[in-house]
Amino acid sequence: MVTRNKTPDNEKLDRVVAEARRKREQREQGYREKALKMYPWVCGRCTREFTRANLQELTVHHRDHNHDNNPPDGSNWELLCVYCHDNEHSRYLDNAGTGAQPGTETSSSGTKHQPFADLKSLLNNRD
Ligand SMILES: [Zn+2]
Ligand SMILES: [Zn+2]
Repeated sequence: MVTRNKTPDNEKLDRVVAEARRKREQREQGYREKALKMYPWVCGRCTREFTRANLQELTVHHRDHNHDNNPPDGSNWELLCVYCHDNEHSRYLDNAGTGAQPGTETSSSGTKHQPFADLKSLLNNRD
């Protein structure tokens, strides 16, 4: 006897999740484009300059670390290269931690990959 292999509830949930993800991506795309139009393509920390060829390495940082805070005047945005952005966030996590050891946040989030970890250590070795 043939039975349903997928319940309507699951399908609905899948759609809701996909929709939420799509909206978030659209929103992120929106503020990124605005920030790139508003500011010169230069990292605010190391002053590295960017072109269309490597623009994907330039990221939009939120000064108050709240990605939902996107004022139209851009006052909460700062363009940072991926390395400086990474540093900025690890410093913030260290400061914000209440007695937590640095590095605990990486071990607690096993699914969070760090694509720039190797590049960062390469950069540090160059110093
Ligand atoms: Zn930088
Ligand atoms: Zn950031």
